[in-house]
Amino acid sequence: PVPPQAPAAPGAPLDGADGRSLASLEAREVTAWFGDRKVLDRVSLTMPAGRITALIGPSGCGKSTFLRILNRMHELVPSAALAGEVLLDGDDLYDPQFKLTDARRAVGMVFQKPNPFPAMSIRENVLAGLKLTGTRASRSDKDDLVEQCLTRGGLWNEVKDRLDAPGGGLSGGQQQRLCIARSLAIRPKVLLMDEPCSALDPTSTRVIEETMKELAQEVTIVIVTHNMQQAARVSDQCAFFLAAHGTPGVIVEHGDTEAMFSRPRDQRTADYVHGRF
Ligand code: ADP
Ligand code: MG
Repeated sequence: PVPPQAPAAPGAPLDGADGRSLASLEAREVTAWFGDRKVLDRVSLTMPAGRITALIGPSGCGKSTFLRILNRMHELVPSAALAGEVLLDGDDLYDPQFKLTDARRAVGMVFQKPNPFPAMSIRENVLAGLKLTGTRASRSDKDDLVEQCLTRGGLWNEVKDRLDAPGGGLSGGQQQRLCIARSLAIRPKVLLMDEPCSALDPTSTRVIEETMKELAQEVTIVIVTHNMQQAARVSDQCAFFLAAHGTPGVIVEHGDTEAMFSRPRDQRTADYVHGRF
């Protein structure tokens, strides 16, 4: 048993930098299957408001599956099944009362490979999510939103003079920051990132890490990374996933990042964070 990092006080919303309350996300006893193959077994994890949680562990242990469960993308796979709960500030995302569009709006996702709409302008890319979610905004509100999201995504200064240029013309790192800006436009409470830097060079990676740290003041962030230095640099807490010999993924250890790297409690964690497997 691991003493988890103190979760955000229940019922006491923290104030984010933009004046909105920050939300915590909690997975309770999440079990996932593809067909009859169980890939996650009773995974519980609290992802505190305004913190960065890193999910680490070898490939195939269920990190991406877990992440996709957090914004109801898992159910897009026809063979997928799920048990357990995911609570956003205490409300179960899987409760029939919780609309799918609200769940996806509240919990945004950034993928490994930057995927802006290549032919669409930078500005239209940022605004694309509004269309999908049916959010209306006036022209000047849109201009403000574009500037605000690109600023928060750490890209504004580089693109402010060419907002009508196609998103596909940006460098890989810039494209990923454009994707972050696009996610932010629908004002998510949580941002999920699945290996957001693994297709990028080290310089772009550092820029995105800095952007993430800034963003954590207004959104709760969950990042999957197999880069241990990155987990150590950006995250407040870490969860170490492991699946072994055909058994489904579980969290072997979780807690404060600093403590987990300097004093891992489980030998398997120690071996993993020190690159021994
Ligand atoms: P990780 O992100 O840690 O590498 P994943 O969540 O992608 O792990 O995968 C966990 C397990 O689930 C793996 O064994 C993988 O092969 C399986 N899996 C992932 N996606 C699917 C899918 N769409 N259909 C069937 N099996 C899948
Ligand atoms: Mg993965």
